Amino acid sequence: MGLTIGVDVGGTKIAAGVVDADGTLLAEVRRATPADDPAGVGESIAAAITEVRAAHPVTAVGIGAAGMIDRARARVMFAPNVAWRDFPLKDLIETRTGLPTVLENDANAAAWAEYRFGAGQGVDDLVVVTLGTGIGGGIIVDRQLLRGAHGFAAEIGHIEMQANGRRCGCGRRGCWERYGSGTALVQEARELARFRPGSAARLLELAGGDPDAVQGHQVTRAAREGDPAAREIYHTVGTWVGRGLADLAAIFDPGRFVLAGGLGEVGDLLWDPAAAAFAENLTGRDYRPLPEIRIARLGGGAGMIGAADLARAANPQAGSAVRTASAIVAEPSGLNTIV
Ligand SMILES: [Zn+2]
Repeated sequence: MGLTIGVDVGGTKIAAGVVDADGTLLAEVRRATPADDPAGVGESIAAAITEVRAAHPVTAVGIGAAGMIDRARARVMFAPNVAWRDFPLKDLIETRTGLPTVLENDANAAAWAEYRFGAGQGVDDLVVVTLGTGIGGGIIVDRQLLRGAHGFAAEIGHIEMQANGRRCGCGRRGCWERYGSGTALVQEARELARFRPGSAARLLELAGGDPDAVQGHQVTRAAREGDPAAREIYHTVGTWVGRGLADLAAIFDPGRFVLAGGLGEVGDLLWDPAAAAFAENLTGRDYRPLPEIRIARLGGGAGMIGAADLARAANPQAGSAVRTASAIVAEPSGLNTIV
């Protein structure tokens, strides 16, 4: 069974891994991302691929990039943390490596990995929600990644949760990721430490007395110790998470949600309030089955594993036990009805 390479390109690091047909990561190399240099990032990706393929015969490359990928999956139209603007990454990598290459949004690639090999296995309709610095996601509808008319679908962190709410990096206000992300958790904690220092005594102690030094892991630690202020913060953020999930359920009616990312994988601290808010806000709650909610299983390797599997699906000579379904999923246009 052939091997493919999956590359996860973030704002600070490039990770390239060799992945087999079962989604097992066999080897991995990492490089820093020269984020200010668009062509340089491409060259670093190519160099990482060259290094990791030296010991493994591979047939194709999949790249999951943090950015907006065009519908043809050839160009990065915009990347918030890399200086790519309408950049022809697919052509560059194919020229440098001689390997057929597919591009995908990094959150889509990670969601695909959970669907194929992780906590999303066994359902046809899945929403993967990555709760980290922001909120990202990937949506699988009837066993296919939802890409949208222009390739920009599933930006679930930017659904409006609060009218005239907190400003967001996307240019609008009140987006979900400003309330239900790891960044929101830290913001809540710092505000509490500043304005109610008596309640936040334990958090301030962990942060050396500086409200602006409170970190997310300190909130988690204090909450696990039973600190009421830290648990209140988790309750606030978890409630926002649950409300957002209820909105997504109203639109996509998934069989399952998978929560990923640092905050998503915290567990009951977040999940207890999120589940309560989810049930409370779910439309038609008395008349519909509740979607399952599970924690992601593949961790930080999901982006590589998913990108590699999408490369395999687009290049069936790489060999795959699920070639038919995945090959159709990977087609850029018009073939979805052939299933
Ligand atoms: Zn936004």
